[in-house]
Amino acid sequence: MNKQSQIKAIRGMNDILPLDSALWQHVETVCADVFRQFGYQQIRTPLVESTQLFARSIGAETDIVSKEMYTFEDRNGDSLTLRPEGTASTVRAGIENGLFYNQQQRLWYQGPMFRHERPQKGRYRQFHQVGLECYGWNTPDIEAEVLSLVAQLFDRLGLKDTELQINSLGDDTARANYRDALVAYLSQHRDALDEDSVRRLTTNPLRILDSKNAEVQALLGDAPNILTFLSDSSAQHFETLQTYLTDLGIAFRINSRLVRGLDYYNDTVFEWVNKDFGAQSTVCGGGRYDGLVAQLGGQSTPAFGFGMGLERLIQILQEQGAESANQTGFTDVFIVSVGEAARRQALILQRDLIQAGLAVNCHQGAGSMKNQFKRADKSGATLALVIGEQEAQDVTASVKPLRRPKSTSQAPLEQQTIAQNDVVNVVTNLLESL
Ligand code: ATP
Ligand code: MG
Repeated sequence: MNKQSQIKAIRGMNDILPLDSALWQHVETVCADVFRQFGYQQIRTPLVESTQLFARSIGAETDIVSKEMYTFEDRNGDSLTLRPEGTASTVRAGIENGLFYNQQQRLWYQGPMFRHERPQKGRYRQFHQVGLECYGWNTPDIEAEVLSLVAQLFDRLGLKDTELQINSLGDDTARANYRDALVAYLSQHRDALDEDSVRRLTTNPLRILDSKNAEVQALLGDAPNILTFLSDSSAQHFETLQTYLTDLGIAFRINSRLVRGLDYYNDTVFEWVNKDFGAQSTVCGGGRYDGLVAQLGGQSTPAFGFGMGLERLIQILQEQGAESANQTGFTDVFIVSVGEAARRQALILQRDLIQAGLAVNCHQGAGSMKNQFKRADKSGATLALVIGEQEAQDVTASVKPLRRPKSTSQAPLEQQTIAQNDVVNVVTNLLESL
């Protein structure tokens, strides 16, 4: 027989395996809880959008649009793109469904995003973001609320060593003036720029501030500072945000070189950076984008939001010692059964115990009593329920404690045989008392 060649996952696209999914679910649950508590509602948009949407919003000269998008023609010859981020889709959906006009919206989303980047630690081709977008507020109080939410999220997840960096890009005029000043300065030092930066000098000069090249970064030390270009109202806005953050006890650092990779930002931008995570250190990034809704054809609507990378967040949590898989406490009862009569009774007891709210693992398939007990132990269950041939005949079951869920309890771990009719009651009480 011909051995078929093995089909592998696409490079940069990962399976999330059972040992890791418990932590993923935990992170997702904490996010959903915190969003709900702050009054945010979830929006779910398609994974695929028309290519135009991203070209018109993110900006043709950005890394994402110029080289990272998964773009293809569908069978009708329409150009479609797998979403590389969530903001453009949210804005498109909001305009299309009338969510913005004369309204305020607090929205969040989550799901896979796609970018054709070079895969490395913390950088993949399919990755997951949780994101949030607010529409209808042009004041810094909403920005403080959003940063307070992120701080709350990290606190609940036990994420350590993150630093909040903030900056202001000002309005269109400030950015245009600053761009000219930056180009003038960098043009004098053209020799010290790498190829990428020289290209960006004409296409997207602000992005040079983001360069990961050490020589370029050194040069930027003496470059003009965007904060000195802000209008009075932008400067006041930025000041007020800082006051709110101080009130909230949220530490921050002003990083005047923080520009973010997308074209649509104005005024406040921010990143939460993890100190020990190298070049892929930004866990969460976002900012204000007051021009985007109008740019995509809607009524002008102020907007503020962020995207957070779950792979990076989870990797950092794991490196900081978060437990990957907590099997103990996951299963309450493991049912051991021997013989066909016992098997039939076991299935019914499993259903009844699950109906009562317990987590019940029932042995299926062949297996000696000894073998089944090994599995029961490995499952992390608190109790084993044993139906041997004798028990099956008597319609009874033996309850055998395997471990104490609460370490303080000293009750002896004794086995007892009970009627199958009493199983739900006895097991429920026992699990509470152990
Ligand atoms: P970077 O500078 O690291 O490329 P970015 O500015 O492109 O990040 P955003 O578009 O702002 O990132 O996305 C928000 C967050 O999503 C990032 O801070 C990061 O946590 C995560 N992220 C972005 N691209 C990837 C990727 N290819 N793989 C994994 N996570 C990613
Ligand atoms: Mg990027």
